[in-house]
Amino acid sequence: MSLQKITPDEGRRRRRFLVGAGITAGAGALARHLPLNIMQPAAAADPVPNAPVKTEIKHTVCSHCSVGCSVEAVVSNGVWVRQEPAFDSPLNMGAHCAKGASVREHGFGEHRLRYPMKLVKGKYQRISWDQAIDEIGERLLALRQNAGPDALMVIGSSKHNNEQAYLLRKWVSLWGSNNVDHQARICHSTTVAGVAQTYGYGAMTNSFNDLHYSKAVLFIGSNPAEAHPISMLHFLHAKELGAKMIVIDPRFTRTARFAHHYIRIRPGTDIALVWGILWHIFANGWEDRKFIADRTYGMEEVRKEVAKWTPEKVSDVTGVPEAAVRTAAEMLALNRPSSVVWCMGITQHHVGTANVRALSILQLALGNIGVPGGGANIYRGHDNVQGATDVGPNADSLPGYYGLAEGAWKHFATVWDVDYEWLKGRFGSKELMEKPGITVSRWYDAVNEQAQYMDQPSNLRAVFYWGHAPNSQTRLPDMKAAMQKLDMLVVIDPYPSLTAAMHGRQDGVYLLPAASQFETQGSVTASNRSIQWRERVIQPLFECKTDHEIMYLFARKLGFAEQLCKRIKVVHNEPVVEDILREINRSCWTIGYTGCSPERLKLHMENKHTFNPTTLRAESGPCKGDYYGLPWPCWGTPEMKHPGTPILYDLSKPIAQGGLPFRANWGVEHDGQSLLAADGSTNRDSEIDTGYPEFDHVFLKKLGWWAELTPAEQAAAEGKNWKTDLSGGIIRVAIAHGCAPYGNARARCHVWNFPDPVPVHREPLLSPRRDLVAKYPTYDDKANFWRLPTLYKSVQAVDFSKDYPLIMTSGRLVEYEGGGEETRSNPWLAELQQHMFCEVNPQDAAQVGAKLGEYIWIETPTGARLKMMAMVTPRVPPGTVWMPFHFGGWWMGEDLEKHYPEGGAPEVRGESVNTGWTYGYDAVTMMQETKVSLCRLARA
Ligand code: SF4
Repeated sequence: MSLQKITPDEGRRRRRFLVGAGITAGAGALARHLPLNIMQPAAAADPVPNAPVKTEIKHTVCSHCSVGCSVEAVVSNGVWVRQEPAFDSPLNMGAHCAKGASVREHGFGEHRLRYPMKLVKGKYQRISWDQAIDEIGERLLALRQNAGPDALMVIGSSKHNNEQAYLLRKWVSLWGSNNVDHQARICHSTTVAGVAQTYGYGAMTNSFNDLHYSKAVLFIGSNPAEAHPISMLHFLHAKELGAKMIVIDPRFTRTARFAHHYIRIRPGTDIALVWGILWHIFANGWEDRKFIADRTYGMEEVRKEVAKWTPEKVSDVTGVPEAAVRTAAEMLALNRPSSVVWCMGITQHHVGTANVRALSILQLALGNIGVPGGGANIYRGHDNVQGATDVGPNADSLPGYYGLAEGAWKHFATVWDVDYEWLKGRFGSKELMEKPGITVSRWYDAVNEQAQYMDQPSNLRAVFYWGHAPNSQTRLPDMKAAMQKLDMLVVIDPYPSLTAAMHGRQDGVYLLPAASQFETQGSVTASNRSIQWRERVIQPLFECKTDHEIMYLFARKLGFAEQLCKRIKVVHNEPVVEDILREINRSCWTIGYTGCSPERLKLHMENKHTFNPTTLRAESGPCKGDYYGLPWPCWGTPEMKHPGTPILYDLSKPIAQGGLPFRANWGVEHDGQSLLAADGSTNRDSEIDTGYPEFDHVFLKKLGWWAELTPAEQAAAEGKNWKTDLSGGIIRVAIAHGCAPYGNARARCHVWNFPDPVPVHREPLLSPRRDLVAKYPTYDDKANFWRLPTLYKSVQAVDFSKDYPLIMTSGRLVEYEGGGEETRSNPWLAELQQHMFCEVNPQDAAQVGAKLGEYIWIETPTGARLKMMAMVTPRVPPGTVWMPFHFGGWWMGEDLEKHYPEGGAPEVRGESVNTGWTYGYDAVTMMQETKVSLCRLARA
């Protein structure tokens, strides 16, 4: 439902939308929208009479959510005139949601940044690229000299393609810091940590398409009808075939209305509920005993914790009736394979990693991992959160999850062909080189914090916001205060994000226009790990430059361009994208980003029609036998022709055909118990019929397989393991014998190196149930966590519930994406939802006399006041309010339009919920809390 009030102007705009929507417009209608020559390079601007029109179809991928829907862009004489959904893509099969159907707007981009700008006396002024690179570069060099390399934070993007994400991590490494991060920190870092520490890899196990095989699906903290709309088509297909649907959410979402069984949960009590479900599973003997015995470690510890969660206790803590919990357990257990889907309703909590692990364990108990129709299916947010996490700008890891230890740096020094000692010298110290950096969720605390409490030599003094919205982070007043303290703030984005308008500064801000993903080419990894190749649709608009060109220009100014592109060709200042991917292929053995050469990915895109839309396997044609997009791990060199891995941890296939066991990542035994898989539990065709450790040169020699390496491979593999052997020989030989390069182990239910080795319920930091806080307290405060002091108990100790009686939570809308500047600047989407709003139950609305469509204030314990429209609806229960997070452009009741650069304000502006969000961070990853806090209402 929309709260829109149609004004005459808006009505005209609506008609314009109806005639101009890209996928249906006829040539006549399109002609009215083609003053495009004003936005194109001169060559496209001057029509030659009677010149033939050159029309091409470019194959690209929607740049919004992570489903990976293909788009066919029709380009005439360099102008993007039309778009079609790709009917031959196995991921979207001809369907698009509203966001995907309107990406052609990137070919117009009225609200785009057009040229570099600089803030002078509070006004943005146009400058040249030369001036921008020179001035910013000079300031960076001075900063490095005065405060060291860790005084800079670069916030990268899950909107970068894989190559740009990789190059940015390399760029910041060569600069000499780990202060680099991106959106995954605040959407799925807890998933990555929780799932990786349980199974081995921190990624979605199956695919969207694989839901066709599910007999039951549990959606928890996930609203795919709005957040990942095309994924719903795959699930609805399963439902037509009889699959049961369970939805657990505090709010009756658009997804919930499809459910057979809807459970309304009190926000922040997911672990109690999952243990409640597992209580029934264990009580009824519904668990998969053989799977648990053969392939898991520590389930007994889980049983002990679950035994405490009797039905009455679960009901008291979660607010869910006892019978509803049992029904969910029964539906999952008796309709197997059953799958679990989760998103930010699970991850964005101070206990996010523990939440994720509880769900991962539930799937192990049911034996639902490694089977079609089962799995832990974690839908990522942006189009390339998965890829940017895999190979990009992470504060705690080099590309491929190599970590930051000396061995990891030496591996990449070799790949980059730079001297390790030189690289080390770029950092403040070896200790800083190996210490995780500042996270995007806390960068402003690293500015505002007293220097003596920082675990690095200086506070942050300069920040780059590179394709990242500030309003997707919490505590915006603290962020604004930090922005004002910085020496310099640089925004690099196709659109001027809220960063450009909210800082309140007079100078020291630069806006640099970046090209969108439709103005470059490269690879992008969908949530199911399939990698797709995007062709360049149009040349960069205005004076925009691609992200990788901007990286190169800065590197040249800062003196490390040679090292950045030593093995990457540079043409007209642009590092060649294919060469960057080849460098990823040469380095990221850990996650099998090695077999996915540009040539193979392009071949897949050209032959999409040959892939089966359920299995994702090519049944004919030049890709026959491959899985679509070579879902990683795609082992070995491209020449090995590994088909990709459609389902993680599937023992029914040989490794060479996409099978895998759980990863041996934690040694071979713990507390006297084996961590390796039981005898007989191994992949089809494996020559080792039991669990085994990861492969290295010693193990290969012990097995007598060393001689199967070529002499060149032996020379490269000596002293190395499967992750660091640049020849790929160790992997090749292991797979030839049917073995997984990373070993064959048990999944861990008991993670001894985490704050909670078995997940336990902890009350939210701002809990309205003060009686439960004493029973289920949060963690102790930490003096030093990701370089910053971090509070838990001292926040929870204050009772805010008397003054702020309502639970506040947030989520997504189908119309908008992320922080929303891009989609709220798109007139077709802006038409659909024109106002920021808050869902309020009729009972709570009546308390303050608020009616549907009227303005209200939301007040939070931080002192923030947010003005927005009331949507009075029983979708939320009494005592809970819900707000979408995509809005920005207002600041506590004030419209910031005049603070954007001229013409750069998005069409729709509104209050950002994150202006009011309160303190709270996951105890493992520093994920921010955005799903449970407290607030109160007032009538505006
Ligand atoms: S936003 Fe997501 S579901 Fe919608 S078209 Fe784009 S990729 Fe597909």
